[in-house]
Amino acid sequence: MARHTEAVCRLCRRIGDKLMLKGDRCMGAKCVIEKRAAKAPTRGGPRRRKVSDRGMQLKEKQKARYTYGVLERQFRKFFAEASRQEGITSDNLMLLLERRLDNVIYRLGFADTRPQARQLVRHGHIMVNGHRVDVPSYLVKPGEAITWHESSKNSEYYKALVEHIKGRLIPAWLGLDENAMAGQVSSLPSVDEIDVKFDGKAIVEYYSR
Ligand code: SF4
Repeated sequence: MARHTEAVCRLCRRIGDKLMLKGDRCMGAKCVIEKRAAKAPTRGGPRRRKVSDRGMQLKEKQKARYTYGVLERQFRKFFAEASRQEGITSDNLMLLLERRLDNVIYRLGFADTRPQARQLVRHGHIMVNGHRVDVPSYLVKPGEAITWHESSKNSEYYKALVEHIKGRLIPAWLGLDENAMAGQVSSLPSVDEIDVKFDGKAIVEYYSR
């Protein structure tokens, strides 16, 4: 299956912003974006190139794609689906991306990053309503239960997670039974509940030309 193969920090460097693709490590001084900011000349601040509207729209689209780890072809499909739906296309797009199973695994705290969550799904560790689902782009629906496959509960990863997951903050549209390590999709998220750093309207403008 096609996927991003570049080192994730390179994606941040390309965008010039922190996309937080490495979990806790993104908060440390080793982050290349932090290092770059520390090296920037203090007098007059960092040099900035003037970016065209088209360039800015492309950047927002790439930010969204890299954040959720979606290839261009699949991202276009999400955009086409968002355009077909009723309502505001940029909001629809955000909601579709947020409903991806790999994102939900990340939001539940079962993984530190979306790439790690994607791997858990692909390797068959995750069940939706009692059925194994190994497709990261699967879109969750309200009422669905997200659990671990029985055989995965013997893994060292799972055992460590049971110890560390307690007290993690999760979005209000998801529920988590920490003892059972079971998630629940309580409702669909609202746009205000989605914590992302890209401009959906600029993405719509990018594809509308
Ligand atoms: Fe991006 Fe995180 Fe790498 Fe920093 S450490 S460049 S935020 S992925």
